[in-house]
Amino acid sequence: MLSPGLELCDLHIHVGAAVAPHILWAIAHEQGIKLPVHTFWEFRDLVTANPESVSSLGEYLAILDRWTEKIQSSPAAIERSVYEIIGKEFRSSNVSLIELRFNPMKRNLGGERDLDHIIHAALRGMDRACLDYGVRAGLIFCLAREFSLDLNEILVKKAVKYKARGVVGIDLAGPEVHTLELGAEVEGYRDLFARARHASLGTTVHTGETPYTAVPGVLAVLKELAPARIGHGVAAATSEEAVRKIAESGTVLEICPSSNLRTHAVANLAELGRALRTFENAGVRYTINTDGPYLLNTHLRQEYELLIDAKILSDAEAERSVEVARGATFIR
Ligand SMILES: [Zn+2]
Repeated sequence: MLSPGLELCDLHIHVGAAVAPHILWAIAHEQGIKLPVHTFWEFRDLVTANPESVSSLGEYLAILDRWTEKIQSSPAAIERSVYEIIGKEFRSSNVSLIELRFNPMKRNLGGERDLDHIIHAALRGMDRACLDYGVRAGLIFCLAREFSLDLNEILVKKAVKYKARGVVGIDLAGPEVHTLELGAEVEGYRDLFARARHASLGTTVHTGETPYTAVPGVLAVLKELAPARIGHGVAAATSEEAVRKIAESGTVLEICPSSNLRTHAVANLAELGRALRTFENAGVRYTINTDGPYLLNTHLRQEYELLIDAKILSDAEAERSVEVARGATFIR
């Protein structure tokens, strides 16, 4: 068991998957959003990735796309969302260092709202929560695989612009296509990641999250984008080459146990255990994170307990992963 007083770090948590249903419900009503359900309980089911309704990454992402991101699409909504997430992570799991990620362009209703207002509001929510709870936090802007390179370039420019205010890094998120996950635009992405690094922003990429694309995805990302961290990577543990290259590059993995189980990045806990054992043995550094605590009905301490109870991690290994997170944070 983790010592109750141990302060934890969450480096991989999405704004769209981390706000409590009752808060989203209140925000939706405040803004007069027309919902397809009548009761709160139906709404809770709509915005939760229950095992009956979600068994793949596509189904998981659809909840964000259809509901939570839409509800969070105003300055007031994103400010409250960010504020509530940071407070909740601290109260539930003693998380004192948190990197919160979201795509501002998925919060401005396709350009109807001003992007800078959305970003300022998110930073305000973060500032207020840091003051109230005495924690450290930073924002990561998620580029989207399904966006054009032009739109993703705007996101990188905004991340650079707001670095001094608390934006600490960029991410590339969204479903990987089959075979070569970076597609024909690889040159462009290489340039965007280089620009972010040059501006001293942290870099991370979602990959190794679906069994079929995991190995080519991880290899392509390491070769072309060389991020400091990889979001997930767990499904590439079956490839000796991928594991060796992750270890050699020093790339830190952001493992999200409940998310990986729910989306079937790994088949079951035993497979997750084998993957983490492989990483341990190969010297791959990894961190434990929530990804979407409310979507998955979990919190960070519970994620650690899941691994410790299943004897996947010893107490000492769990504590070491917290230290890895502390060393790998983009927050300076
Ligand atoms: Zn994620």
